[in-house]
Amino acid sequence: MPAVETDALVIGAGPAGLFQVFQLGLQGIRCHVVDVLPQAGGQCAALYPDKPLYDIPGLPHVTGLELTQRLLEQVKPFAPQFHFEQEVTGLTPSPEAPGQWSVDTANGLTFTAKTVFIAAGVGAFVPRALVLDGEGAFNPRHIHTGSAIDKLNEAAASGRFQNACCVVVGNDAQAVNTALALAQTDAPSQAPQSVTLVHRKDEFDAPEPQLQALASWRARGNIQVALGQPVALGAKQLQLAKDDDSEVTLPLDELFVCLGLSPRLGRLASWGLTLHKRQVTVDPASMATNLAGIYAIGDINDYAGKRKLIVCAFHEATLAAFAAAARVFPEQPVRLEYTTTSRLLKARLGV
Ligand SMILES: Cc1cc2nc3c(=O)[nH]c(=O)nc-3n(C[C@H](O)[C@H](O)[C@H](O)COP(=O)(O)OP(=O)(O)OC[C@H]3O[C@@H](n4cnc5c(N)ncnc54)[C@H](O)[C@@H]3O)c2cc1C
Repeated sequence: MPAVETDALVIGAGPAGLFQVFQLGLQGIRCHVVDVLPQAGGQCAALYPDKPLYDIPGLPHVTGLELTQRLLEQVKPFAPQFHFEQEVTGLTPSPEAPGQWSVDTANGLTFTAKTVFIAAGVGAFVPRALVLDGEGAFNPRHIHTGSAIDKLNEAAASGRFQNACCVVVGNDAQAVNTALALAQTDAPSQAPQSVTLVHRKDEFDAPEPQLQALASWRARGNIQVALGQPVALGAKQLQLAKDDDSEVTLPLDELFVCLGLSPRLGRLASWGLTLHKRQVTVDPASMATNLAGIYAIGDINDYAGKRKLIVCAFHEATLAAFAAAARVFPEQPVRLEYTTTSRLLKARLGV
């Protein structure tokens, strides 16, 4: 596949990356955005979509999901091209275009970019793994993790797991939704043989409507809850250790691991960037890294006085866009203009 050529590539579609897109747009720079997750929003959407934030300027309270939606709305005039479920693994000087960067993803995409904005937060979010004894005994094709589970949930209604013993490990909204999706088949004949939700405590962290649905399906016996810690897999079973040191064995055909996401810094550490305590060192005036044309913003960067707050990421994205404009359009002066009064900015915004 030929390399995608772009003036700017943003790595990470969290709040920092999304606002970077907006600020680049104001500077007349269109960009591509890559994220390993299947959706935008970074930590806001993946870790606390329903929780309110109270320190975003002008928004007395806004949930993680609403903030993401507002940022996506704000970048619409600049039509960024998103590439989801793509982990950036390589960043090297472009062999074809001197002064530009070649950026590779694990799934085979390559970009040639004049400027790169690392908005990678605390790292690429990957599903947290369940480490069990005897994993070789169970067919790994029947272990489901991450966003693949959400896709399978759609197939569950039409009998994809008919007659199977399904075990869902976890207590978050994805775990609860998965148990509900497995139990709620279009016809009773398409239902799994059993749906068991496994967690150490009988406490689940999901929005109220899902918790009420869970209670109702449990009362009808369509979903069981087993308390304990998964410790070992057999060919057709999952063993749990209970808090009182006793053990329980569950029949198992399909295992759904919903243990949330954990960040992985990954290959970023080998890109030649100056790092301090696993953060990318930047010039606070421009967010420039030690590599020309590469900027770092948001939770991933480090400078004197750094605070890992979204409001600070927004400021950083603004400064980085001004710095990048001078690089992308070296023949033009970079002026400060107001969106309220500038014809140029209004034209770019389409207002
Ligand atoms: C529970 C909780 C509550 C919080 N409350 C607040 C609050 O009230 N106010 C506040 O200001 N902040 C709050 N924060 C912190 C705030 O969420 C972060 O500061 C913010 O999300 C950082 O934004 P970011 O875009 O830099 O990184 P992230 O949100 O972490 O986004 C980074 C994105 O980059 C992607 N990525 C990373 N590496 C790669 C790669 N190699 N390839 C492809 N994609 C990659 C990740 O998948 C992720 O989507 C809270 C955090 C948590 C966990």
